[in-house]
This record gives sequence, C-alpha cells and structure tokens, in this order.
Amino acid sequence: MTAAEGPGAPGRRAAPDRGRTLLGPALALVHTGQAPTRSVLTGALEVTRATAGAVSAELEALGLITVDSSPAGGGRGRPSHRLSIDPAGPVVTAAQLHADGISVALAGLGGQLEPPVHLPLPAATDPVRLLRAVAEAGAALARASSRRCLGAALALPNPVTEPDGTALAALQFAWPSGTPVADLYAEEVRKADHGPRALDPFPSAVANDANLAALAEHRHGAGRGARHVLLVTSGHRGVGGALVIDGRLHTGSAGLALEVGHLTVDPQGRRCICGNRGCLNSETDPEALFAAAGRTPDPERPLLAQARGLAADPSALDAVHHVVDRLGQGLAGLVNILNPDRIVLSGLHLDLLAAAPERLASVVAERCLWGRSGRVPIVPAEVTHAGLVGAAELAWAPYLQDPQSVLPTGGA
Ligand SMILES: [Zn+2]
Repeated sequence: MTAAEGPGAPGRRAAPDRGRTLLGPALALVHTGQAPTRSVLTGALEVTRATAGAVSAELEALGLITVDSSPAGGGRGRPSHRLSIDPAGPVVTAAQLHADGISVALAGLGGQLEPPVHLPLPAATDPVRLLRAVAEAGAALARASSRRCLGAALALPNPVTEPDGTALAALQFAWPSGTPVADLYAEEVRKADHGPRALDPFPSAVANDANLAALAEHRHGAGRGARHVLLVTSGHRGVGGALVIDGRLHTGSAGLALEVGHLTVDPQGRRCICGNRGCLNSETDPEALFAAAGRTPDPERPLLAQARGLAADPSALDAVHHVVDRLGQGLAGLVNILNPDRIVLSGLHLDLLAAAPERLASVVAERCLWGRSGRVPIVPAEVTHAGLVGAAELAWAPYLQDPQSVLPTGGA
C-alpha cells in the first residue's frame, strides 16, 4: 500500500504537465529495452495511446529515440510503432580506473558502449594528475565524435562516500583516505575541452566500480527482470559486492554498504588486508585460487586472466572446489541477510560458477535458512565492460530523470 498518491497517480486523465512527468519513465523504459513498441509503452505507463504517442514524439524531438511507424514486415493486425534509442543521439563519457590502467569509452543510451580505449596509468598517480588524465581521455573521444556529449562519469576500484564523493582506502594509487574525488574529477572535466557540441555546464559523477557493474547488470544484463539483485565479483585482488533493490543501488547511509569482502568464511584461513583471517576477500580471489592449487602465477601476466585459466583447468579441480566452498559460504551468509531473488557473479567468481555450478548452488542452499526449499538463481554476469556501462548509467541519470535537460538551456 503506498502512503500517498498525489495528482500524478496512475490514471487515464491527461493533466497539463502530465506529458513532462512521463518523459523520464518513458525514456527509462526504452533505454532498458522494456518498451520496444509504442503499444508496450502505452501499457507500461498505464496511459492512453494518445498520451504515449505524444510522449514518444517529444522524446524523438529531443533527439533521444526514434519512432519507426513503417509496418513490421506485413504482419496481421495493427502495427505498433517501434521505439529505439536514436543511434545518432547524444553520448556521455564513461571511464574506469583499474589498478593497472584507465579505460574510457563513449556511451549512448540503451547501454550502447562504443569500443573502449585502454591507457596505461600516468607515471604520477596523485589524484589530480590521474583524474586529469581520465578527463582528458574522455574529452578527446568526445571531440572526435559527431554526437553531442552530455556528461561524464568514472568508476573507481575503491569505496566512494555519499553524498560528498570522497575516496576511501584507495590503496592501488596510495591516495590519502578522504580524497575529494568527485570534486577533483568535476574540476578536471570542467577544464577539459569536450568540443563545440558538448553541453555546458557539463555534469560529472563518480562511484565504486562494483556498484556500477551491478547497475549495468540490472538494467542491461543478467539482472534484468529481477527485483533484488546481489552482485559479487573478484577482479585482480579482493572481492566486491553490490545490491540493486527495485532498480536502485542500495549504498547505505554513506555509500559504504555491501562491503562483502570481509565476511569471514574460514577463521583459520589466509590473512586478509584488513588484518583478519579467512575473509571472502582473501579466500576467493585469484591469489587464493593459486594458493589452493599450490601454484605460482606468472608475475609478468595479468593475474585475473591466469586465474580464469586455472579455474577451467581440470587438474586444478580440487583447488576450485576448495575456493567454491568458501564462496558458497559467503554467498549463503549474504542470502540470509539480504534475501535477493538473483545472484550475479562476475570476475573470477563467474569462472568458479562455470567450473562447479552444482557444488556452488548446493553449498549456498545447505547454508541458507530457506535455501532448501527455494534455491536462489546464481547466474554469470553478461555485460562486457560492466564498470564502463555502469558509469554511463551514472552519467545518464540526470537525463533519465528529466529528458528535457538535454536541451542547452536546461529545458526551457
Ligand atoms: Zn578482510
């Protein structure tokens, strides 16, 4: 039961500003592939065909979607207009900082990422110089594009506080804890030349990469259609997690929720960077798999890629089972607390799932209070470059909220 339903409550009346309030929800439906035709949009918005027609025409006039009214191959019945993201529409710059480099790409609506550019980290990784390199790489892509650029967002491998946007425990780059990363990035984005077609002023945002990957999977990948999506991932080192509830990231009171890496899964286990033993972080990441297999990774090659190879190696199955059992214990603890309706695994955890899907599912089910009667689907992540796609979601957020703000005057 909703607490209050104001004048904007669902109904078939056309209020004066009803069209404008529907623009954001309508664009979000096309953006996430949930409204491929105008008749689907009409039903999803619970409005008349005339209202849905006016809303889609307005989104088309804003240059965000295309409305194709040609009959779809001579089928029977009344053809519905097809709605698509305008391929020549505006873009945002999406960037991701990794421990060993920078990735940047332009992204349109609809989760459409242009091929990313990967750059090495600059020699100096102090916050200002590193964020300047990120902003300038994004601006160079924007200048080279014929599409308007409307915003910029950055995925970071460390926790980011909300709402002030400071970076905590940015150990990869030895940044001081509390570095005002959102402000510094905004300053560098403002100074960078995004070309004559860019919107001015130019919004920017930063967030944690696991959170953004979860958002990407929920909107465009393995989490589509689920209400409560838990994402757990292991990159080169450590383990991250994120939760999307009813389409929104659950980030806690200060942006720091879902720090799942420090759940204890083996009190006698490996030492973790947090000082404890046997955290999910130190028991289920690439190094843990190598340790369980009694092997040493090649220091010259990316650790995650080597660990993925090891997870698929039949001769390492005992080590895979050792790590899968601990991953299952951690997931079970999370399921008992969060009760998700889907778990999406990415990074090395995706490969562990592929190597031992039944074993992982049964460890989780055995340890879940309700797991024996209803298993939570555990599925592999689907989105390529999920951190970048998620960063694009962050950059698009103001426009999904108010599509008319794509206009240079801010919607007048
Ligand atoms: Zn720990």
